[in-house]
Amino acid sequence: MTVSTDIPDVRTAHDPAPQARPQHFAQRRHEIFQTSLMSALLDGVYEDEMTVGEILGHGSFGIGTFNALDGEMVVLDGRAYQLRGDGSVTLPSLDAHSPYAVVTNFVPTVRAELPEHVTRAEAGTYIDRLTESPNYMYALRITGEFEWMTARTVTRQEKPYRPMTQATDEDAMLRFAHTRGTVVGFRTPLYEQGIGVPGCHAHYVDDSRRHGGHILDFRVEHAQVELCICTDLHLRLPLTSEFRQANLAPDDLRAQLEKSEVHSARVA
Ligand code: ZN
Repeated sequence: MTVSTDIPDVRTAHDPAPQARPQHFAQRRHEIFQTSLMSALLDGVYEDEMTVGEILGHGSFGIGTFNALDGEMVVLDGRAYQLRGDGSVTLPSLDAHSPYAVVTNFVPTVRAELPEHVTRAEAGTYIDRLTESPNYMYALRITGEFEWMTARTVTRQEKPYRPMTQATDEDAMLRFAHTRGTVVGFRTPLYEQGIGVPGCHAHYVDDSRRHGGHILDFRVEHAQVELCICTDLHLRLPLTSEFRQANLAPDDLRAQLEKSEVHSARVA
């Protein structure tokens, strides 16, 4: 399958020529595995039996959270990381549980240098034009140096659980200056509203694996972006009473998703 060559040429005097033009690779069908729904998380379904070990069996790259919203999850190179509200990063037990996660086995189909000094929104516009169509799912990896990165993390909740828009109200913003690391995210089509967050949901972990969080904004110093087009979705739903009783299609779903995007801030 050939891909669009309608790619913006944003080469500047600073760009090394070999990397300046996006590289395209052969495509195959590619699966995303997801456990539970964004709308379930919005409704306060913060517990499930899914383990980190099982999640890693479905993909080596992805994002999620932990039971009781005890931090953000990053899965990178087959290893899961737990990013907590104090900005710390630890390795969770393979038996730790997750109420929501999205993973894949990342194989890049497009690779390009991001223009220097772009912010999250500017990078998003550039990445939009690298994608073949808005009608597919994409896994997204950005590696490199950032002038700064702002992020937040969910903090452990106590029962009775509040809806997510309230539970994330008090999250502190973390700011990392001159940081080198990896952005791990997914671009989700609008038609998946409620399954995921339409737009892009991304987490960050630095190269030292000591800092990270749920990305709000950044400014690139030098970074490479890679996209993995995804054609198949394997959706696994919880077999819990909380999930059975959850309201997964509330009238204000769109407003809740928009509010959650303050938390689930887009990189695009
Ligand atoms: Zn997140």
